[in-house]
Amino acid sequence: MEDKRKILSNIPAVDELLKNGEIEKLLFAHPRSIVVEAIREYLNEYRKFIVSSDDKNLKAIDTSNNAIIRGIIKKVSDITSFKLKNVVNATGVVLHTNLGRAILSPKLKDMLLNIATHYSNLEMNTATGERGSRYSHVEELICRLTGAEAAMAVNNNAAAVLLVLSTMAKDREVIVSRGQLVEIGGSFRVPDVMTQSGALLREVGTTNKTHLLDYENAVTENTAALLKVHTSNYRICGFTKEVGSEELVALGNKLGLPVIEDLGSGILIDLSKYGLPYEPTVQNSIKAGTDVVTFSGDKMLGGPQAGIIIGKKIFIDKMKKNPLTRAFRIDKLTLAALEGTLRLYLDEEEAVKSIPILKMLCCDQQDISKRAKRLYNKLKKSIGEYASIKIEDEFSEVGGGSMPLHKLPTKVISIQLDDISSDKLDTVLRQYKTPIIARINKDRLLLDIRTIIDDEFDIVENALKWSTESLKNRIAIKA
Ligand SMILES: *Cc1c(COP(=O)(O)O)cnc(C)c1O
Repeated sequence: MEDKRKILSNIPAVDELLKNGEIEKLLFAHPRSIVVEAIREYLNEYRKFIVSSDDKNLKAIDTSNNAIIRGIIKKVSDITSFKLKNVVNATGVVLHTNLGRAILSPKLKDMLLNIATHYSNLEMNTATGERGSRYSHVEELICRLTGAEAAMAVNNNAAAVLLVLSTMAKDREVIVSRGQLVEIGGSFRVPDVMTQSGALLREVGTTNKTHLLDYENAVTENTAALLKVHTSNYRICGFTKEVGSEELVALGNKLGLPVIEDLGSGILIDLSKYGLPYEPTVQNSIKAGTDVVTFSGDKMLGGPQAGIIIGKKIFIDKMKKNPLTRAFRIDKLTLAALEGTLRLYLDEEEAVKSIPILKMLCCDQQDISKRAKRLYNKLKKSIGEYASIKIEDEFSEVGGGSMPLHKLPTKVISIQLDDISSDKLDTVLRQYKTPIIARINKDRLLLDIRTIIDDEFDIVENALKWSTESLKNRIAIKA
């Protein structure tokens, strides 16, 4: 008790702290109000902490003024530093939803900065001086690339599906195969989205098999459309049957019903040419005659978060007039990033080289090996004395709910520190100023070369130096 009172009465006053040399340094870099607030907040927390500690804990606490000042410096840095920041994706999951899915091509940097910091013709037709449409900037380009008649873009593909169903099937039935009632991470479930849109779900077939006749038999006068959903993130194998786009379109034509397809990822290039499994392209769906197709901007397309809706003009025109469109509209920065990404697709070879996620998916083994060797050499030099470092064969994943069964052969750098578990190293690496997100396998920390960008090699090296040193120091202090 005596101790506690003494510690509490020794806490310096705010005015006194403001005269301290270290705190004065903070005042040069940050507004006074922020520093004063940080001091007050920190002292409050510190007091509470002391009051709630028992005698045993009290002895272990550093109660010096220096410790208090360190706490205040950290508080100011917590308040003033960016919370959203870069991380290094060393997981090998190319489209990592928690790490922001697709990263944009560095080629778009100047253009994006310019659009963000200047006025633009977002909704003005500069030829006539009249109001224009924000969708016009990408519409022609999307149509050129996909063969569709009309196009628009909204906030994301979930919004796209909702808008399509709300426009085409409100209070009416939409027929969908039981095998395609997808749940994507983050609670996007096809049945729930349909409910939200006001469309009535009419499931047909079984989990593994749906026949054309199942759709046909379910049609009533209240049917508004036939829906096909790409099973992006899972596969049904074995004794299965799915109805192809052409067949479904033929049935739609026969019965006078539009066919809608949610492609999920949506790719514009047949990636089987580059060693990946065949996935139907957006162009295939349009060629098959599908009336409306939706897909994401930030999955395999490699652009910003967006939902792209393409298809027959009569339907797209109706969607543009739906009040939901205003709620789902995309921002000018997104639009700029989308246009920039799509422009790269005008030259397929250029697209595969300069869209980062396509480059990561299509890169050859030789290139991966070369890059692995380079990072290995760096790490060997800087932390080789504390760690066992190896280059190993492993597999990366596409991620983002795309190509779920496909494993991409890759090289990883495996790291094992003497006396320190890989879980600990992993935790400390995530605390680095640019967090390194790795994966762990059999108590080895693995850094997958595929998803580490070349200009991040120095960051990875510095992070590992910093982490191993701080872990070694902690052990030394304990000993
Ligand atoms: C990913 C996905 C969605 C959701 O797309 P977002 O752009 O994340 O909103 C919808 N449908 C399918 C089939 C998907 O794969």
